[in-house]
Amino acid sequence: MQHTRLGYWIEEAGEVEPAPPLAAERSADVLVVGGGFTGLWTAWHLRQLEPEARVVVLESEAVCGRGPSGRNGGFCNGMWLSAASLRERWGDQAALAICRAAADGVERIGAFCEEQGVDAWWRPAGYLQTSTTPAHDGAWERALAACRELGVPEAIVPLSPAEVQARCQSPAFRAGAVCPDAATVQPARLALGIRRRLLEEGVEIFESSPVRGLRAAPGGVEARTEGGAVRAERAVLAIGAAAKGRRGPLRGQLTVASSHIVLTEPVPEVLEQIGWTGGDAITDCRSLLDYFRTTPDGRIAFGWGGGRIAFGARTRGRSELDRAVIEATAAHLYDYFPALRGRRLTHAWGGPIDASPTHLPTVTSLPGDRAFAAAGYTGNGVGPSNMVARTLASLALDRRDDASRLAFVDGASPRVPPEPFHWIGGEAIRLGILAKEEAEMAGRAPGKVASAVAKIPELIGFHIGR
Ligand SMILES: Cc1cc2nc3c(=O)[nH]c(=O)nc-3n(C[C@H](O)[C@H](O)[C@H](O)COP(=O)(O)OP(=O)(O)OC[C@H]3O[C@@H](n4cnc5c(N)ncnc54)[C@H](O)[C@@H]3O)c2cc1C
Repeated sequence: MQHTRLGYWIEEAGEVEPAPPLAAERSADVLVVGGGFTGLWTAWHLRQLEPEARVVVLESEAVCGRGPSGRNGGFCNGMWLSAASLRERWGDQAALAICRAAADGVERIGAFCEEQGVDAWWRPAGYLQTSTTPAHDGAWERALAACRELGVPEAIVPLSPAEVQARCQSPAFRAGAVCPDAATVQPARLALGIRRRLLEEGVEIFESSPVRGLRAAPGGVEARTEGGAVRAERAVLAIGAAAKGRRGPLRGQLTVASSHIVLTEPVPEVLEQIGWTGGDAITDCRSLLDYFRTTPDGRIAFGWGGGRIAFGARTRGRSELDRAVIEATAAHLYDYFPALRGRRLTHAWGGPIDASPTHLPTVTSLPGDRAFAAAGYTGNGVGPSNMVARTLASLALDRRDDASRLAFVDGASPRVPPEPFHWIGGEAIRLGILAKEEAEMAGRAPGKVASAVAKIPELIGFHIGR
């Protein structure tokens, strides 16, 4: 098995000519810092809303989309499974508005691929959540009830154990629920597809251009890189987990955790045998989630969100490649699908996750109201980044519209403690949840200490699951 920093998707998407680094002083109407999905979609929405807007994107990696955006599981779903949390936080109307905006975002991604000729393996599919232990039976009930009460009962469909097995057979699966309006994508192809269209539309992209500082300047903001500077009327900071390392409001709202993926060799005959041919993107119901999907050539990409908590903002090292986590991820895969024993795993990789205490993304105005930052997808950013980017584009253009009024804009969020308390507490809670969930999976009663520690987030108003 090849352990690679950038992962299979980026390799599969092929080489592209990097854009040059910023090497001069530039001006723009809107500066976007970060070329992951949030930044790329923001640039795209900006140009859709104002085709004449001068938009500059600065990306620190050699090519956009090489962070988590090009390495993730490719689950492209809305936020219906978060409906109960959204409602609890902001009330019915706000929750419904966000869920509908997220669903529109997913649709927009599909339409973008089709209309713009981007082959990102867009495959409409169900987003299936299944219980794998009696302790998790009905984990979807809160979200299901919320959707019913919000008048959208079709958003989540409960499934009996037989109905789950009919979509994909596994000895681990029990009952479940499916969100029908989801899809899977090849995320690196999608990121490169947006990047290509932006360049064709005349958006200026500078790669290998890490922004060292963003500060207020007369009439706007100025960002500096090693080789130059961009002065713009407004800026959008879309740097994902790296926001934890920058001064500003997001630092105190994020935890950097990690997620890892293993990829099988093509196993189309196994997929046939277990009836997993409808393309469903599947997760279990654990807080430290297992997630898995198929590819057009019959591989399984299997991920686990149980990686360690990073100290502060360390988005490299074990946040990207952690051999122990990769081994655990592979072991989970074989538990779900024993028919894969003896089949080769070809690739393994991982990446940082920007986790928020509420499990919901957040958009924050930076001092001066000339710059806006977003992060906190907590492992669910492929679909929602399009919605959040639409909001960021509205804010950057100073539009007072539905997108700029979504409740996650400047919605107060609980704060995480400073280091080292944050890391010590975060790791203790992760290990507590891990021990509790492993005991539940093995049919054992979880230990008292693990159960008590795993309950801490709930007691302090944090959501580790949705
Ligand atoms: C292994 C893994 C699996 C996942 N699976 C899924 C999934 O199946 N479905 C899902 O919805 N979500 C998933 N996620 C989460 C999802 O990938 C993220 O939520 C999403 O990609 C976030 O996009 P972003 O643009 O906000 O951040 P990023 O993708 O992190 O992009 C931020 C960009 O900013 C750049 N940057 C950072 N600092 C600077 C700087 N100073 N100057 C300039 N540029 C900078 C980075 O290089 C990066 O390109 C997964 C994540 C991981 C790691």
